[in-house]
Amino acid sequence: MAEIRISELWKRYPNGFEAVKRVNLQVADGEFVVLVGPSGCGKSTTLRLVAGLEEVSSGEIRIGDRLVNNLPPAERDIAMVFQNYALYPHMSVFDNMAFGLKMRKMPQAELDQRVRRAAEVLSIEQLLDRRPRELSGGQRQRVALGRAIVRDPSAFLFDEPLSNLDAKLRVQMRTELARLHGRLGSTMIYVTHDQVEAMTLGDRIVVMKDGVIQQVAGPLELYERPANRFVAGFIGSPAMNFISGRVSGGSFSAEGLSMPLERTAAEGEAVLGVRPEDLVLAEAGEALAEVGLDVVEHMGHETLAYFDLAGVPAVARLEADLTARPGERIHLRIRPGSEHLFAADEEGARLDARPS
Ligand code: ATP
Repeated sequence: MAEIRISELWKRYPNGFEAVKRVNLQVADGEFVVLVGPSGCGKSTTLRLVAGLEEVSSGEIRIGDRLVNNLPPAERDIAMVFQNYALYPHMSVFDNMAFGLKMRKMPQAELDQRVRRAAEVLSIEQLLDRRPRELSGGQRQRVALGRAIVRDPSAFLFDEPLSNLDAKLRVQMRTELARLHGRLGSTMIYVTHDQVEAMTLGDRIVVMKDGVIQQVAGPLELYERPANRFVAGFIGSPAMNFISGRVSGGSFSAEGLSMPLERTAAEGEAVLGVRPEDLVLAEAGEALAEVGLDVVEHMGHETLAYFDLAGVPAVARLEADLTARPGERIHLRIRPGSEHLFAADEEGARLDARPS
């Protein structure tokens, strides 16, 4: 096991494109850190730099107490699991898992023991004689995991390992990965574009955009105190509603809407952020706004209601038994103290709208 320290890391591809810009990140020994962000944000490049599959342009990567910048992947003592499992089709599951160890000339008895122990951890003992084509997608991904586990590396790197699985299996494998981390206690860095995977797996989550880290935080902090508008909009589904307006004397106002803010020193143009679950039905007298329903989606456990709020499309997560229909009007208020406030400029930094 090992800590991973990334400092002032840059990656400039030969065509001049900067995919990773001044990334600083410390992953503690045994920690599960998830890199998340939209396509092209540089998360895979960051992981590949740690793995040694890409060359660092500048900065340092340390695994344990070793500077690994110039070490080939095989000497970094890490195991990487990819989205396509790349199993050898002509080999049995056992041989696929044992292959790396055989190449390193590990004695047969130890190799045997390691493969069987990993197979047991992953509940695939009964599949050891099969070939990859005789396995389901989830089983193949387990074999790929097994191949990483048998090496007993100081850290695991995962690049979207579940993206090839169907929705149900993804959820199941996600839980298994969490369990696996609990059991092995190894350092893990995991890349995904799926915010649910990030939130459920990560001890800490690194949100990236355009090669730059936007925020590093635990799942709850990320959700409750997003550092800027990008993070606020990326984490949470349906996404946070944003309303542009002005703050003046402790109140926020926008088209047809005015509300006091619990605490803010901000003045002038700002963007109010409200999560769909923080918009609730209200009596006419206490309502913040009256809106005309555009679309109503009954999900079973909740209802999503779509409408225009202060001139922009918005969504609220309401009770499952909501009877109002499209075309009808409803009154809404914002759960007290749940609002977020961001700067109106492009960066959209968080302005302290709520007591910390
Ligand atoms: P995805 O989820 O789509 O894989 P990502 O966040 O993992 O996205 P990266 O694969 O790290 O993104 O790529 C980051 C950026 O670097 C992208 O804009 C990509 O087009 C660019 N890029 C990747 N490889 C190269 C390369 N060899 N040469 C030039 N640009 C590259």
